[in-house]
Amino acid sequence: MNRVLLLPLLFLCSQHLSAQHHHTHDWVVRFPDVPGYHVLACDFHQHTVFSDGSVWPDIRVQEALRDSLDAISLTEHLEYQPHQSDIPHPDRNRAFQIAQEEAKGSNLIVVNGSEITRDMPPGHTNAIFLTDANKLLHDNPMESFREAKRQGAFIFWNHPNWTAQRPDGVATLTDMHRKMIAEGLLHGIEVVNDVNFSDEAFQIALDNNLTLMGTSDIHGLIDWNYQVHEGGHRPVTLILARERSAEGIREALLAHRTVVYINNTLAGRAEHLLPLLNACIQVKSAEYEENTSVLKVTLRNLGDSDLLLLNQSDYTFHHDSGIVDLHGNSESVIQVKTRERLKSVELPFDVLNAFTAPGKAASVRLRVDLR
Ligand code: ZN
Repeated sequence: MNRVLLLPLLFLCSQHLSAQHHHTHDWVVRFPDVPGYHVLACDFHQHTVFSDGSVWPDIRVQEALRDSLDAISLTEHLEYQPHQSDIPHPDRNRAFQIAQEEAKGSNLIVVNGSEITRDMPPGHTNAIFLTDANKLLHDNPMESFREAKRQGAFIFWNHPNWTAQRPDGVATLTDMHRKMIAEGLLHGIEVVNDVNFSDEAFQIALDNNLTLMGTSDIHGLIDWNYQVHEGGHRPVTLILARERSAEGIREALLAHRTVVYINNTLAGRAEHLLPLLNACIQVKSAEYEENTSVLKVTLRNLGDSDLLLLNQSDYTFHHDSGIVDLHGNSESVIQVKTRERLKSVELPFDVLNAFTAPGKAASVRLRVDLR
Protein backbone atom coordinates (compact mmCIF):
# COMPACT_ATOMS: atom_id res chain seq x y z
CA MET A 1 0.00 0.00 0.00
CA ASN A 2 2.68 2.43 1.05
CA ARG A 3 4.84 1.67 -1.93
CA VAL A 4 2.00 2.23 -4.35
CA LEU A 5 1.34 5.64 -2.85
CA LEU A 6 4.96 6.60 -2.59
CA LEU A 7 5.82 6.30 -6.26
CA PRO A 8 3.35 8.86 -7.61
CA LEU A 9 4.23 11.14 -4.71
CA LEU A 10 7.92 10.98 -5.55
CA PHE A 11 7.08 11.65 -9.17
CA LEU A 12 5.05 14.69 -8.24
CA CYS A 13 7.78 15.98 -5.94
CA SER A 14 10.48 15.65 -8.56
CA GLN A 15 8.27 17.38 -11.12
CA HIS A 16 7.69 20.19 -8.67
CA LEU A 17 11.39 20.52 -7.90
CA SER A 18 12.44 20.60 -11.53
CA ALA A 19 9.82 23.24 -12.30
CA GLN A 20 11.14 25.38 -9.46
CA HIS A 21 14.70 24.84 -10.56
CA HIS A 22 13.79 25.87 -14.07
CA HIS A 23 12.16 29.04 -12.84
CA THR A 24 15.27 30.35 -11.10
CA HIS A 25 17.05 30.32 -14.49
CA ASP A 26 14.15 31.82 -16.38
CA TRP A 27 15.07 35.48 -16.74
CA VAL A 28 12.19 37.89 -17.11
CA VAL A 29 14.28 40.97 -17.86
CA ARG A 30 17.80 40.52 -19.15
CA PHE A 31 20.01 42.39 -21.58
CA PRO A 32 23.63 41.79 -22.52
CA ASP A 33 26.33 43.99 -21.03
CA VAL A 34 27.82 46.75 -23.18
CA PRO A 35 31.52 47.63 -23.49
CA GLY A 36 32.68 49.08 -20.17
CA TYR A 37 29.37 48.67 -18.37
CA HIS A 38 27.12 46.12 -16.72
CA VAL A 39 23.50 46.48 -17.82
CA LEU A 40 21.35 46.25 -14.69
CA ALA A 41 17.54 46.02 -14.61
CA CYS A 42 16.08 48.13 -11.80
CA ASP A 43 12.70 49.28 -10.48
CA PHE A 44 13.02 52.26 -8.14
CA HIS A 45 9.37 53.14 -7.53
CA GLN A 46 7.28 50.66 -5.53
CA HIS A 47 4.85 50.68 -2.61
CA THR A 48 3.96 48.36 0.26
CA VAL A 49 1.53 48.50 3.20
CA PHE A 50 3.93 51.00 4.78
CA SER A 51 2.23 53.55 2.52
CA ASP A 52 -0.66 52.80 0.14
CA GLY A 53 0.50 49.47 -1.29
CA SER A 54 -1.23 46.16 -0.60
CA VAL A 55 1.65 43.83 0.25
CA TRP A 56 4.31 43.34 2.91
CA PRO A 57 7.84 44.38 1.80
CA ASP A 58 9.07 40.77 1.57
CA ILE A 59 6.71 40.19 -1.39
CA ARG A 60 8.37 43.04 -3.31
CA VAL A 61 11.74 41.33 -2.82
CA GLN A 62 10.38 37.96 -3.95
CA GLU A 63 8.76 39.54 -7.02
CA ALA A 64 12.06 41.23 -7.91
CA LEU A 65 13.94 37.93 -7.55
CA ARG A 66 11.40 36.17 -9.77
CA ASP A 67 11.76 38.98 -12.33
CA SER A 68 15.57 38.66 -12.16
CA LEU A 69 15.98 42.34 -11.30
CA ASP A 70 19.31 43.68 -10.09
CA ALA A 71 18.07 46.43 -7.79
CA ILE A 72 14.88 47.85 -6.28
CA SER A 73 13.72 50.56 -3.93
CA LEU A 74 10.52 50.66 -1.88
CA THR A 75 9.47 54.30 -2.06
CA GLU A 76 6.69 54.76 0.46
CA HIS A 77 4.81 58.04 0.45
CA LEU A 78 6.32 60.12 3.25
CA GLU A 79 3.16 62.15 3.76
CA TYR A 80 0.47 59.60 2.83
CA GLN A 81 0.17 56.58 5.12
CA PRO A 82 -3.40 55.25 4.84
CA HIS A 83 -2.64 52.02 6.79
CA GLN A 84 -1.15 53.83 9.76
CA SER A 85 -3.99 52.90 12.14
CA ASP A 86 -3.32 49.20 11.39
CA ILE A 87 0.46 49.39 11.02
CA PRO A 88 1.52 52.25 13.28
CA HIS A 89 5.24 52.41 12.63
CA PRO A 90 6.87 55.82 13.05
CA ASP A 91 10.08 54.89 11.23
CA ARG A 92 9.95 55.78 7.52
CA ASN A 93 12.92 53.47 6.89
CA ARG A 94 11.01 50.39 8.07
CA ALA A 95 9.92 48.98 4.65
CA PHE A 96 13.53 49.26 3.47
CA GLN A 97 14.84 47.46 6.56
CA ILE A 98 12.43 44.54 6.12
CA ALA A 99 13.21 44.29 2.39
CA GLN A 100 16.94 44.42 3.01
CA GLU A 101 16.64 41.60 5.55
CA GLU A 102 14.56 39.54 3.09
CA ALA A 103 17.10 40.07 0.29
CA LYS A 104 20.03 38.84 2.42
CA GLY A 105 21.84 35.96 0.75
CA SER A 106 20.52 36.91 -2.69
CA ASN A 107 22.07 39.09 -5.41
CA LEU A 108 19.31 41.69 -5.20
CA ILE A 109 20.44 45.20 -4.29
CA VAL A 110 17.90 47.08 -2.14
CA VAL A 111 18.31 50.83 -1.70
CA ASN A 112 16.46 53.07 0.73
CA GLY A 113 13.99 55.48 -0.82
CA SER A 114 10.94 57.66 -0.18
CA GLU A 115 8.28 59.37 -2.23
CA ILE A 116 7.90 63.05 -1.33
CA THR A 117 4.19 63.42 -2.06
CA ARG A 118 2.92 66.94 -2.79
CA ASP A 119 0.46 68.79 -4.97
CA MET A 120 1.79 70.13 -8.29
CA PRO A 121 4.21 71.78 -8.20
CA PRO A 122 6.37 69.89 -7.39
CA GLY A 123 4.02 66.88 -7.60
CA HIS A 124 5.48 63.54 -6.51
CA THR A 125 9.22 63.05 -6.29
CA ASN A 126 11.32 60.01 -5.34
CA ALA A 127 14.57 60.27 -3.44
CA ILE A 128 16.64 57.07 -3.39
CA PHE A 129 19.93 56.13 -1.72
CA LEU A 130 18.76 57.82 1.48
CA THR A 131 20.49 57.19 4.77
CA ASP A 132 17.50 58.26 6.91
CA ALA A 133 14.07 58.86 5.37
CA ASN A 134 12.67 60.31 8.62
CA LYS A 135 14.78 63.44 8.20
CA LEU A 136 12.90 64.26 4.97
CA LEU A 137 9.70 65.13 6.86
CA HIS A 138 9.39 68.91 6.38
CA ASP A 139 6.47 71.20 5.59
CA ASN A 140 8.42 72.87 2.81
CA PRO A 141 9.16 70.30 0.08
CA MET A 142 12.34 72.21 -0.90
CA GLU A 143 13.67 71.40 2.58
CA SER A 144 12.90 67.71 1.99
CA PHE A 145 14.84 67.81 -1.29
CA ARG A 146 17.76 69.65 0.33
CA GLU A 147 17.92 67.03 3.09
CA ALA A 148 17.81 64.25 0.47
CA LYS A 149 20.68 65.92 -1.36
CA ARG A 150 22.67 66.16 1.91
CA GLN A 151 22.22 62.40 2.24
CA GLY A 152 23.64 61.86 -1.25
CA ALA A 153 20.30 60.88 -2.78
CA PHE A 154 19.39 60.58 -6.43
CA ILE A 155 16.13 62.52 -6.85
CA PHE A 156 13.60 62.08 -9.69
CA TRP A 157 10.22 63.52 -10.66
CA ASN A 158 7.49 60.87 -10.68
CA HIS A 159 4.75 60.60 -13.33
CA PRO A 160 4.97 64.27 -14.46
CA ASN A 161 2.18 63.41 -16.94
CA TRP A 162 -0.21 62.04 -14.27
CA THR A 163 -3.71 63.22 -15.24
CA ALA A 164 -4.71 63.70 -11.57
CA GLN A 165 -2.18 66.53 -11.49
CA ARG A 166 -1.97 67.30 -15.23
CA PRO A 167 -5.43 66.83 -16.74
CA ASP A 168 -4.02 67.10 -20.30
CA GLY A 169 -1.45 64.36 -19.61
CA VAL A 170 1.33 66.65 -20.86
CA ALA A 171 4.43 66.79 -18.63
CA THR A 172 5.34 70.45 -18.17
CA LEU A 173 8.32 71.94 -16.41
CA THR A 174 7.36 74.51 -13.74
CA ASP A 175 9.43 77.31 -12.21
CA MET A 176 9.76 75.20 -9.07
CA HIS A 177 11.26 72.34 -11.10
CA ARG A 178 13.64 74.78 -12.80
CA LYS A 179 14.71 75.98 -9.36
CA MET A 180 15.20 72.37 -8.21
CA ILE A 181 17.32 71.60 -11.26
CA ALA A 182 19.39 74.76 -10.74
CA GLU A 183 20.02 73.80 -7.10
CA GLY A 184 20.96 70.24 -7.99
CA LEU A 185 17.81 68.91 -6.30
CA LEU A 186 16.38 67.09 -9.31
CA HIS A 187 18.41 64.56 -11.27
CA GLY A 188 15.89 62.42 -13.14
CA ILE A 189 12.35 62.19 -14.51
CA GLU A 190 10.00 59.28 -15.14
CA VAL A 191 9.48 58.85 -18.88
CA VAL A 192 7.63 55.65 -18.07
CA ASN A 193 5.42 55.10 -15.02
CA ASP A 194 3.46 51.84 -15.01
CA VAL A 195 2.06 51.54 -18.56
CA ASN A 196 2.28 55.25 -19.37
CA PHE A 197 4.96 56.69 -21.67
CA SER A 198 5.56 60.43 -21.80
CA ASP A 199 7.24 61.88 -24.89
CA GLU A 200 7.15 65.29 -23.20
CA ALA A 201 9.01 63.94 -20.15
CA PHE A 202 11.54 62.38 -22.56
CA GLN A 203 12.12 65.81 -24.15
CA ILE A 204 12.31 67.56 -20.75
CA ALA A 205 14.99 65.05 -19.76
CA LEU A 206 17.04 65.71 -22.93
CA ASP A 207 16.66 69.50 -22.64
CA ASN A 208 17.55 69.67 -18.94
CA ASN A 209 20.18 66.97 -18.59
CA LEU A 210 17.95 64.72 -16.47
CA THR A 211 18.21 60.93 -16.19
CA LEU A 212 15.53 58.91 -18.00
CA MET A 213 13.60 56.68 -15.59
CA GLY A 214 11.08 53.86 -16.05
CA THR A 215 9.30 52.38 -13.03
CA SER A 216 6.32 50.23 -12.15
CA ASP A 217 4.95 52.36 -9.25
CA ILE A 218 3.42 49.04 -8.20
CA HIS A 219 0.80 49.03 -5.44
CA GLY A 220 -0.78 45.59 -5.99
CA LEU A 221 0.99 42.55 -7.46
CA ILE A 222 3.52 42.71 -10.31
CA ASP A 223 2.15 39.48 -11.79
CA TRP A 224 -1.40 40.78 -11.90
CA ASN A 225 -0.44 44.09 -13.51
CA TYR A 226 2.07 42.82 -16.05
CA GLN A 227 1.05 39.19 -16.70
CA VAL A 228 4.56 37.94 -16.08
CA HIS A 229 3.31 34.34 -16.23
CA GLU A 230 2.28 35.02 -19.84
CA GLY A 231 5.60 36.53 -20.87
CA GLY A 232 4.94 40.12 -19.80
CA HIS A 233 7.30 42.29 -17.82
CA ARG A 234 7.19 45.34 -15.58
CA PRO A 235 8.74 48.58 -16.85
CA VAL A 236 12.35 48.92 -15.73
CA THR A 237 15.25 51.31 -15.88
CA LEU A 238 18.25 49.63 -17.50
CA ILE A 239 21.32 51.08 -15.85
CA LEU A 240 24.79 51.10 -17.43
CA ALA A 241 26.91 50.68 -14.30
CA ARG A 242 30.69 50.43 -14.03
CA GLU A 243 30.22 48.00 -11.14
CA ARG A 244 27.30 45.93 -9.92
CA SER A 245 26.79 47.60 -6.55
CA ALA A 246 24.59 50.24 -4.93
CA GLU A 247 27.34 52.82 -5.36
CA GLY A 248 27.87 51.74 -8.98
CA ILE A 249 24.16 52.27 -9.66
CA ARG A 250 24.10 55.64 -7.89
CA GLU A 251 27.07 56.86 -9.93
CA ALA A 252 25.45 55.68 -13.18
CA LEU A 253 22.12 57.38 -12.35
CA LEU A 254 23.81 60.69 -11.54
CA ALA A 255 25.73 60.38 -14.84
CA HIS A 256 22.40 59.77 -16.74
CA ARG A 257 23.49 56.33 -18.04
CA THR A 258 20.04 54.70 -18.40
CA VAL A 259 17.71 53.21 -20.98
CA VAL A 260 14.01 52.79 -20.25
CA TYR A 261 12.36 49.49 -21.20
CA ILE A 262 8.61 48.84 -21.39
CA ASN A 263 6.50 46.56 -23.61
CA ASN A 264 9.13 45.98 -26.29
CA THR A 265 9.95 49.67 -26.42
CA LEU A 266 13.36 51.10 -25.55
CA ALA A 267 14.09 54.77 -24.95
CA GLY A 268 17.47 56.25 -24.19
CA ARG A 269 20.09 58.77 -25.18
CA ALA A 270 21.93 57.64 -28.33
CA GLU A 271 25.20 57.26 -26.42
CA HIS A 272 23.58 54.59 -24.20
CA LEU A 273 20.89 53.07 -26.40
CA LEU A 274 23.13 52.45 -29.43
CA PRO A 275 25.75 50.39 -27.55
CA LEU A 276 22.89 48.41 -26.00
CA LEU A 277 21.31 47.72 -29.41
CA ASN A 278 24.72 46.80 -30.83
CA ALA A 279 25.22 44.35 -27.96
CA CYS A 280 21.74 42.87 -28.55
CA ILE A 281 21.90 42.48 -32.34
CA GLN A 282 24.56 40.05 -33.51
CA VAL A 283 25.35 38.71 -36.95
CA LYS A 284 25.51 34.99 -36.20
CA SER A 285 26.41 33.76 -39.68
CA ALA A 286 26.32 34.80 -43.32
CA GLU A 287 26.73 32.94 -46.59
CA TYR A 288 25.69 33.28 -50.20
CA GLU A 289 23.05 30.89 -51.46
CA GLU A 290 24.58 28.49 -53.95
CA ASN A 291 25.12 30.00 -57.44
CA THR A 292 23.41 33.26 -56.46
CA SER A 293 24.24 36.72 -55.14
CA VAL A 294 21.56 36.38 -52.47
CA LEU A 295 23.23 36.71 -49.09
CA LYS A 296 21.64 34.73 -46.29
CA VAL A 297 22.32 36.45 -42.95
CA THR A 298 21.28 35.00 -39.61
CA LEU A 299 20.70 37.72 -37.02
CA ARG A 300 20.54 37.01 -33.32
CA ASN A 301 18.93 39.15 -30.62
CA LEU A 302 20.58 38.66 -27.23
CA GLY A 303 18.21 41.03 -25.39
CA ASP A 304 14.69 40.57 -24.10
CA SER A 305 13.02 43.22 -26.22
CA ASP A 306 11.72 42.35 -29.67
CA LEU A 307 13.38 44.67 -32.18
CA LEU A 308 11.60 45.87 -35.31
CA LEU A 309 14.27 46.62 -37.90
CA LEU A 310 13.60 48.66 -41.06
CA ASN A 311 16.11 48.21 -43.88
CA GLN A 312 17.89 51.47 -44.71
CA SER A 313 20.39 50.04 -47.20
CA ASP A 314 20.16 50.28 -50.99
CA TYR A 315 19.76 46.51 -51.18
CA THR A 316 16.37 44.86 -51.23
CA PHE A 317 15.52 41.62 -49.48
CA HIS A 318 14.54 38.39 -51.17
CA HIS A 319 11.64 37.44 -48.88
CA ASP A 320 10.69 40.36 -46.67
CA SER A 321 9.64 43.86 -47.55
CA GLY A 322 12.58 45.22 -45.61
CA ILE A 323 11.09 44.95 -42.12
CA VAL A 324 12.68 42.38 -39.84
CA ASP A 325 10.83 41.43 -36.66
CA LEU A 326 13.74 40.21 -34.57
CA HIS A 327 12.23 38.67 -31.46
CA GLY A 328 13.92 38.86 -28.08
CA ASN A 329 16.33 36.00 -27.32
CA SER A 330 15.92 34.47 -30.76
CA GLU A 331 17.15 34.47 -34.37
CA SER A 332 15.90 35.67 -37.74
CA VAL A 333 17.21 34.97 -41.22
CA ILE A 334 17.26 37.70 -43.85
CA GLN A 335 18.13 37.30 -47.53
CA VAL A 336 19.88 40.34 -48.96
CA LYS A 337 20.17 40.75 -52.74
CA THR A 338 23.64 42.26 -53.12
CA ARG A 339 23.66 41.78 -56.96
CA GLU A 340 27.24 40.55 -56.85
CA ARG A 341 29.12 38.41 -54.35
CA LEU A 342 30.82 40.78 -51.91
CA LYS A 343 33.48 40.20 -49.25
CA SER A 344 31.77 42.47 -46.74
CA VAL A 345 28.39 44.18 -46.54
CA GLU A 346 27.13 47.05 -44.40
CA LEU A 347 23.49 46.82 -43.40
CA PRO A 348 22.02 49.96 -41.84
CA PHE A 349 18.66 49.62 -40.08
CA ASP A 350 16.31 51.90 -38.18
CA VAL A 351 15.04 50.22 -35.02
CA LEU A 352 11.41 51.29 -35.08
CA ASN A 353 10.72 50.51 -31.40
CA ALA A 354 13.89 52.06 -29.94
CA PHE A 355 13.97 55.82 -29.52
CA THR A 356 16.87 58.23 -29.00
CA ALA A 357 14.46 61.19 -28.75
CA PRO A 358 10.66 61.49 -28.94
CA GLY A 359 9.59 59.94 -32.26
CA LYS A 360 13.19 59.42 -33.40
CA ALA A 361 14.06 55.79 -34.14
CA ALA A 362 17.59 54.60 -33.33
CA SER A 363 19.83 53.70 -36.27
CA VAL A 364 22.21 50.77 -36.19
CA ARG A 365 24.76 49.55 -38.74
CA LEU A 366 25.49 45.85 -38.99
CA ARG A 367 28.70 44.75 -40.64
CA VAL A 368 28.74 41.37 -42.31
CA ASP A 369 32.15 39.92 -43.18
CA LEU A 370 32.41 36.89 -45.42
CA ARG A 371 35.32 34.52 -45.54
ZN1 ZN B 1 4.31 56.18 -6.10
